[in-house]
Amino acid sequence: MPTIATLDGPLDTADLGTVLMHEHVFNITAEIQIAHPGFNGWDPEVEIPKAREELRGVKEAGIDTIVELSPIGLGRSLDLIRPACEGTGLNVVLATGLYTYDVLPRPWHFSGPGTLLDGDEPLDELMRADLRDGIEGSGIVPGILKCAIDADGLTEHVERVVRSVCRIHKESGAPVCIHTAAQHERGTDALRVLEEEGIDPARVMLAHCGDSTDIEYLERLAASGALLGMDRFGLDVLLAFEERVSTVVAMCERGHAGRMILSQDANCFSDWFPPGLSEQVSPNWHFLHVVRDVIPALLERGVSQDDVDLMMRHNAREFFERA
Ligand SMILES: [Zn+2]
Repeated sequence: MPTIATLDGPLDTADLGTVLMHEHVFNITAEIQIAHPGFNGWDPEVEIPKAREELRGVKEAGIDTIVELSPIGLGRSLDLIRPACEGTGLNVVLATGLYTYDVLPRPWHFSGPGTLLDGDEPLDELMRADLRDGIEGSGIVPGILKCAIDADGLTEHVERVVRSVCRIHKESGAPVCIHTAAQHERGTDALRVLEEEGIDPARVMLAHCGDSTDIEYLERLAASGALLGMDRFGLDVLLAFEERVSTVVAMCERGHAGRMILSQDANCFSDWFPPGLSEQVSPNWHFLHVVRDVIPALLERGVSQDDVDLMMRHNAREFFERA
């Protein structure tokens, strides 16, 4: 039986059920919270129980598994995630890696290939430690590797992260999620590095493809075998609901339902924005938007239930089962 590592230990992939493939529990900027506790309204005493309640509602709405894609750079902390997910009934897949759009944290400026102290890429060993000893040494192993290529593209440091993730993927076999900036067609840059590294794109989920309405670009990515994240439903401030839905409909009509997943890239709390702002600007940006609004709209527009099942269940299972 193939298994996937989750917060509660190995899970039979047959039990993944209905999956939200790209979400976050908390996105916290740790150093700011240490220096200025409560910055942008963060209060773990309040937010952890609130998150638990919200995540219980996600399970009640029919979601069985969420993939929590917060590595270093997004404030991953077991002290926060564990109590927030406890007793919710959700399977939670965690990530390792590093999230930056441009530069690496300071220690990497001095260590690593081509730097003052040179040596091996330090991120390699951090990801290995997570996979070997568990996150924070807990024995809780991440199920996916994460990196990002945003508008700035493959800056020197971003390329170091992406190639590091590629190396650890080859060592460990863990699947990969690459955040991309769809408007800048960064999925193409991702595929180029994967090809150079000899990695099968089918092991990789290209996040945020759903921010694009360019079917030609999306079809090119789908042709590689990569899994396309139509994963920011609710972020209407970036692209309107109707356009996101129409793009998925068009891709389904062209036979690509087997290459997409639907998710929201939502969170229970993020200190990136002043309190209340995201609710005000993007009121549909929450964990239930796909189930409540997106799937009914897709069915209404002629997408079959079978295609919905591919995007919500089968593709995730196949992605995690692929060796
Ligand atoms: Zn995300």
